[in-house]
Amino acid sequence: EAQVAIRALRDKLAPSGNVVSEAGRKKTIEVFGEPLTPVEVVERICNEVRTQGISAVLRYTAQLDGAAFDADQLRVPAERLAAAHAAADPEFLATIRRIRKNLLRFQTAILHRDVRVEIEGGGALRQRYLPLERVGLCVPGGAAAYPSTVLMTAVPAQAAGVQQLAVVAPPTRFGSENDDLLATCHELGITEVYRMGGAQAVAALAYGCEGVAKVDKIVGPGNLFVALAKRHVFGEVDIDSIAGPSEVIVVADETTPPEFVAADLIAQAEHSPGSAVLITWHEPLVEQVLEALETQLATLERNELTRRSLEDFGALITVAGREAAARLCDELATEHLHLACADPEGLLDKVRCAGAVFLGPFSPVPVGDYAAGPSHVLPTGATARFASGLSSNDFLRSNSVIQFTAQTLAAHTDDIVRVAHKEGLTGHARAVTIRAEP
Ligand code: NAD
Repeated sequence: EAQVAIRALRDKLAPSGNVVSEAGRKKTIEVFGEPLTPVEVVERICNEVRTQGISAVLRYTAQLDGAAFDADQLRVPAERLAAAHAAADPEFLATIRRIRKNLLRFQTAILHRDVRVEIEGGGALRQRYLPLERVGLCVPGGAAAYPSTVLMTAVPAQAAGVQQLAVVAPPTRFGSENDDLLATCHELGITEVYRMGGAQAVAALAYGCEGVAKVDKIVGPGNLFVALAKRHVFGEVDIDSIAGPSEVIVVADETTPPEFVAADLIAQAEHSPGSAVLITWHEPLVEQVLEALETQLATLERNELTRRSLEDFGALITVAGREAAARLCDELATEHLHLACADPEGLLDKVRCAGAVFLGPFSPVPVGDYAAGPSHVLPTGATARFASGLSSNDFLRSNSVIQFTAQTLAAHTDDIVRVAHKEGLTGHARAVTIRAEP
């Protein structure tokens, strides 16, 4: 019964992860005057951008975003970036600088370091890490403006040492026409901002087109079309994970104020859709949280959307105790896990799967969304079972480096030759034995 309950909850929690394939296959939309699935739409857009280049990008930008312009207006001019920065609220810029500092400190500290292992008998083995050259950052612009997404993708890349960052955002008042967004880009030293979004922007970054150089990796969130396009171009370039709608599990007990729990559930649900789940072993908390939810929803700006989100994707669950709570958290492998109960450290030891964990009553999820240091681009839809949040290490490649001496080679020759003969690759064997010949 517990398994069935968990599966039902996971289906509710995760219209994502697989949402991309599910929604991509099922719905039909008319973008080309004929009903197509989103997967078919995205394939068509990507193929046309690959073969027709900038003209296809401009055509789709006009059709889907209602913004018609020429090729020379695709890139936001340097003067426009500087002007947005000059006109920006100084308090906002100071905030961006402080957040950048927090992010940079953490993202630099977690970077992989080169490793060197000496070989007995001479020589060394090394693993060295190098930044990617050029990365594309998708910043959404359909329904809300996200300067925070610029920070949360660009700063980890900069911590890794990526030199070229290209931001794409649809030409909307929330995207590349948004002054706060442009000012943030300028503040972070980003000079390449392109007025395109959706599948056409992902394809332009992946294949390159007139005025837009091909990138090595594309990261950042977006709607279904962005997610499907990233999946389509994977292999041509690298991508980060495919993130879906936001989720939180709050684990609370008799020490957690119900008002805190209600506020945390609302903060996630207002993403709309956003899944918000309470897990507790203190039964009276459920009623108390329901009451607090009603009180807080009454004065919330996004009241209706949030209420619907809570009804569709919310749950208040009681379990037998801490062990059961930990097992349920692992099963659900949620994007955000807030351990708001007593002894959160003790519970953390028992939980393994989550995108980001928030410990104690004073670490609500928005701390991670906006200010702390880890990126807010996190795995959703139970993909935290195998995926990790975006970090500076996603912008590194590694090389292994092997350096043997004559003496070390001689010591390994028999083993290498034996395996090479087993595989029938005698040329491999000779490349080793020839070096031992007098
Ligand atoms: P978006 O920029 O991702 O998508 C808008 C683009 O979608 C348009 O420019 C258009 O090209 C394309 N599009 C729209 N309808 C289409 C159609 N019928 N056919 C083909 N293309 C079409 O902006 P959005 O829509 O606001 O979505 C942003 C998403 O990103 C939201 O779900 C938001 O919650 C999520 N988000 C996640 C994070 C995170 O870190 N996880 C951060 C910010 C936003």
